[in-house]
Amino acid sequence: MRAAMAAAQVGYDIFEEDPTVNELQRRAAELFGMEETLFVPSGTMANLISVMCHCPERGAELIVGDQAHIHLCEQGGVAQIAGIHSRVVKNLPDGTFDLNEVESKIRHSSGTHCPRTSVICLENTQNFTGGRVPPLSFLQEARALADRYGLPIHMDGARLMNAAIALDVKASEILRLCDSVSVCLNKGLGSPIGCLIGGRKEFINQAIRVRRVLGGLMRQAGVLAAAGLISLSDMVERLRDDHRNTRKFAQGVQAFSSSICDIDINAVETNIIMFPVNDPRISAKEFCDKMAEVTEEEVTAMGCGVQVLLHHMYDCKVRAVWHLDVSEEDTDLALWKLQYVIEKVNQK
Ligand SMILES: *Cc1c(COP(=O)(O)O)cnc(C)c1O
Repeated sequence: MRAAMAAAQVGYDIFEEDPTVNELQRRAAELFGMEETLFVPSGTMANLISVMCHCPERGAELIVGDQAHIHLCEQGGVAQIAGIHSRVVKNLPDGTFDLNEVESKIRHSSGTHCPRTSVICLENTQNFTGGRVPPLSFLQEARALADRYGLPIHMDGARLMNAAIALDVKASEILRLCDSVSVCLNKGLGSPIGCLIGGRKEFINQAIRVRRVLGGLMRQAGVLAAAGLISLSDMVERLRDDHRNTRKFAQGVQAFSSSICDIDINAVETNIIMFPVNDPRISAKEFCDKMAEVTEEEVTAMGCGVQVLLHHMYDCKVRAVWHLDVSEEDTDLALWKLQYVIEKVNQK
């Protein structure tokens, strides 16, 4: 990837003259089955641009899941920067939501009291429910609902390729049910920087304008797009390895049958495990600290030290994520470390 970046042909992207960026955008459009795509620096910006394009009116309203990245993790940018109001619906454990609830919250009156619902935001894979993959039937029903009210659907597809791999369908099969999408080239796809927005031609034209005002315009961005091209060509199929390793870890943890951490194997669909650490002897934060710490005692007992970096979330939850740099061997070592930490707690 570094070599491809160094060798990339570049040009002035402001005039759409960067051949590598153009090639990335063309290939992504093909893969997504969308008219056009646009290369932007981050997923947060991709979501913000997309939502702004769907909500040209200040005080417009979007409908979004209460566990959505757009709602929880983007500093409320849709309100802070775009003046858009969020109406929240409850995410169900499988990453979907109740579409009756969505319908009851759509506001389309022409009166003066209410904001006007302008877009429905979905997320696939759904990060905070544990990388869940809403089934295609849910997306079809969401599409039918959106169509009844003339609303567009934006898909936060930061990990859309994980969803496509998990469902064993083409990305375009998911995205034909959406009006716009943001897809991260970093994360599991291994690029250092970059995200693509997909949509219809007029939508992307507007997105180019909004990207500029948000400071997302890049010049010789071909050095980054070259990495993105490798993400699309070489990194998608290997997401299966991440999913396999994730499952292996989940099965291993289940086999420990420890009261400290328990994983619902049926909820493990992609490369993320979100599991509770609920034990009076150790909090989720302490658990993560122990997994990350390498003591001399561990090295003496086991012959080597293993550092496992987990993310401690709200609600006593811990998040584990697999990606390009976590191999099957690393996964075995992580399980081994987990067993070591559990034994230590049991000895207390
Ligand atoms: C990471 C992520 C984003 C934002 O991407 P950044 O590149 O970190 O800004 C958006 N949505 C989801 C679901 C994500 O996981």
